[in-house]
Amino acid sequence: MTFDMTAERPSRLAPERRPDLDLSFEFFPPKTDAMEARFWESLHRLAPLHPSFVSVTYGAGGSTRERTMRMVHQIKTDTGVEAAAHLTCVGASREMVDEVVRGYQAAGINRIVALRGDPPEGVGRPFLPHPEGYSNAAELVAGIRRIGNFDISVAAYPEKHPQSPSREADIDNLKRKLDAGAQRAITQMFFDNGDYLDFVERARKAGITAPIVPGIQPIHNFTQIAGFARRCGAMIPDWMAERFAGLEDDPETHALVASAVAAEQVLELVDEGVTEFHFYTLNRSNLVLALARVLGRRPG
Ligand code: FAD
Repeated sequence: MTFDMTAERPSRLAPERRPDLDLSFEFFPPKTDAMEARFWESLHRLAPLHPSFVSVTYGAGGSTRERTMRMVHQIKTDTGVEAAAHLTCVGASREMVDEVVRGYQAAGINRIVALRGDPPEGVGRPFLPHPEGYSNAAELVAGIRRIGNFDISVAAYPEKHPQSPSREADIDNLKRKLDAGAQRAITQMFFDNGDYLDFVERARKAGITAPIVPGIQPIHNFTQIAGFARRCGAMIPDWMAERFAGLEDDPETHALVASAVAAEQVLELVDEGVTEFHFYTLNRSNLVLALARVLGRRPG
């Protein structure tokens, strides 16, 4: 067997020849003072990495409406970093959703991550739109567009949305959202890069030209992330479960393995030509800082 050690890997090029990367970071609105302290500490550590934007999620059923709005405003005014607000259609009329959008417009926030959302009981239950509400993300995107010139991101599912009848229907749905006026798709977490690369190829064949930004979930806590993944239809490969097996009471080794696993994932994607990454931070900074460094991004 021979190895081609001379093949050029973009991730290993000298800094001046390496492709420029766009990074974005996702946070969730904190519930308590202690969580809020961690939110700001992480944000202040990650802001010097010059993300294109930082986004703040919208709790199930719109339960975090005020907190999401407050955090988004404060990120922009306190740190100068571009902030994006997640917004869902759950349990709200079009008028209520439009009012939130107009509030962002008035506050100078022009980035929105537009989502359908899930019923409060979870994605396993059918989604019943509010009688006067938007019934899916494509309708929401069109509604936001009618209000103003927002930069809109939508969700994409490399392993298919759990409620989608087929992989083709899922791509058609993504196309509807982009055709309605979204600029980019951000993917659900995935751990097998083959799923993402295959999804992008199928999307391009279906005529989708917008960026499809991989959503990278560093494994801060394997048990917790495996639970999230199960609920949103993302597969945990056996090899990955095996790497974390037995580390429940060994946080130091767990963190080192998590860093190695995520580094392998992002470097492989860079070598496949990917230049944009969205990191699910869970309001923590350590693993994302390490990954940014591996990708050649230094705070400054
Ligand atoms: P849609 O794109 O509307 O699609 C949902 C499902 O309905 C798909 O199966 C689709 O195929 C089907 N569908 C849609 N329209 C039609 C139609 N016309 N006919 C037939 N089928 C249709 N959730 C939150 O609550 N808050 C958040 O902040 C949040 N942030 C997220 C960020 C990212 C990057 C991602 C990937 C997900 C996020 N989610 C969030 C989860 C998301 O709300 C759920 O995955 C939800 O189940 C689907 O939302 P969507 O925007 O993808 O829905």
